[in-house]
Amino acid sequence: MQQYWSGSAINKNKGMVEHLQHCGVIKSTKVAEVMETIDRGLFVPKGTPPYVDSPMAIGYNVTISAPHMHATCLQLLEEKLQPGMRALDVGSGTGYLTACFALMVGPQGHTIGVDHIPELVSSSIENIEKSAAAPLLKDGSFSVHVGDGREGWPECAPYDAIHVGAAAPEIPEPLINQLKPGGRMVIPVGNILQDLKVVDKNSDGSISVYTETLVRYVPLTSKEAQLQG
Ligand code: SAH
Repeated sequence: MQQYWSGSAINKNKGMVEHLQHCGVIKSTKVAEVMETIDRGLFVPKGTPPYVDSPMAIGYNVTISAPHMHATCLQLLEEKLQPGMRALDVGSGTGYLTACFALMVGPQGHTIGVDHIPELVSSSIENIEKSAAAPLLKDGSFSVHVGDGREGWPECAPYDAIHVGAAAPEIPEPLINQLKPGGRMVIPVGNILQDLKVVDKNSDGSISVYTETLVRYVPLTSKEAQLQG
């Protein structure tokens, strides 16, 4: 909902990252490095300006999130995306943020993306293959799958970090179950305007939740409902 710049005033990936640092959205060197290394320009459809701070249509009634939202989620999850950790991106769409996760956890870690639109999963894999995260796809530490993300991806659970890129009416139970004790999930919850919730699983398995900010994401729903708009 917030917009840190408008129009195409910023037309390079590096410029976008510097601006996000300048605005205080990117706070850490690690997040800046990762967003510099994974060029957002490789992930948006042809003809779409990649560095504008706004969600952009990617087909199938959904959008790639604005750069400041990707940066915010990377900052919130940074501690749980250390080398060797496990990450799950539900509603992986273009694969941009998933690729950032993969680069952060590296080849000793494991990154899974899940989206319910097979065409988006295929095109995200093509995007990733052009990016700096391509070697991780090859070595098997990074994969993207077709599935209903409300069920998570139990095969590779538990996860240190779970990101949900679409708004759920409530936090899906399977995702809570697939979070590691000490792990963190970032998920928009609500209908038209949503709370970006940060869900921490404590070492005793209990859950702490706080709201980071107000957001507007597309719904986490069934494939049929999404395609009907
Ligand atoms: N974070 C991604 C995409 C955000 S749009 C990006 O920035 O590129 C939200 C994505 O969630 C869409 O790709 C949509 O297809 C997907 N989605 C919505 N409901 C889903 C569900 N139940 N299971 C899996 N993916 C879902």
